[in-house]
Amino acid sequence: MSSTLSIEQSPFVQAMCKATHDAWIKGWDERNGGNISLLVDDDELAPYLDQVQGNRDYPMPSPTPALAGRYVLITGSGKFFRNVELDPAGNIGLIHIDATGQNYRILWGLENQSLPTSEMSAHLLSHTARLSASNGTNKVIMHCHATNLLALSYVVKPTSAAMTRTLWEGSTECLVVFPEGIGVLPWLVPGTDEIGQATAEMMSNHPLVLWPFHGVFGSGPTLDDAFGLIDTAEKAAEVMVKVYSMGGVKQTISKEQFVALGKRFGVTPNQDALNE
Ligand code: 13P
Ligand code: ZN
Repeated sequence: MSSTLSIEQSPFVQAMCKATHDAWIKGWDERNGGNISLLVDDDELAPYLDQVQGNRDYPMPSPTPALAGRYVLITGSGKFFRNVELDPAGNIGLIHIDATGQNYRILWGLENQSLPTSEMSAHLLSHTARLSASNGTNKVIMHCHATNLLALSYVVKPTSAAMTRTLWEGSTECLVVFPEGIGVLPWLVPGTDEIGQATAEMMSNHPLVLWPFHGVFGSGPTLDDAFGLIDTAEKAAEVMVKVYSMGGVKQTISKEQFVALGKRFGVTPNQDALNE
């Protein structure tokens, strides 16, 4: 049944407005920094289908057969998060991936010939990785320039184990929120298929991936989950930046304490980070 509400009032567009607004307020998305994509299910879109008639077709940056036939709400390239809530149709758009996973069509939004984010490859390949890692429940990939995570990439040993251990030590809840840890990539040129493929590979066993000297990718079933995951890691990063600024760690959470934490909350901590 079609809705009397405009698609701009739909729960999925409104959720994107809130996430981009909140990320801007957090200071994670200066200028056009950051991008978000959200898989929209057929039944969620059904009431608004008569409002989405775009016909601009493009080849996918990397073929993603696992997303064939899916709808994706995605931020536009060069668009500012702070402007999304003011003009959703100008700054985000809904795309439909064809049955082969080789092409996509812009159905709504991305007005004035705008295109999806330059990090589209990283988003869509990461969706493929997270869908299979989460039994189909992961719907969101979020990239932003979270300040303290970025700062830590200049001083912490650039390995997944070392960065994970540092963040776990930054706040007791971290191990419970991301027991799989944060994956750390080498520095790569953004907006390329190479960084997209490397991010997706890392995402197959980490819900968070750090791009050194650039930013972070987070994932989750909902925008709240992906946002909350990045927020938790960023808060721990902020604590550790303060700790290093006060002269460094004098005491911290021990390996035995992390093991006890994992047991109490029924999660399996990343072994490499435990041994770090
Ligand atoms: P876009 O404006 O193309 O989304 O790029 C922003 C960004 O953060 C690149 O990594
Ligand atoms: Zn970026």
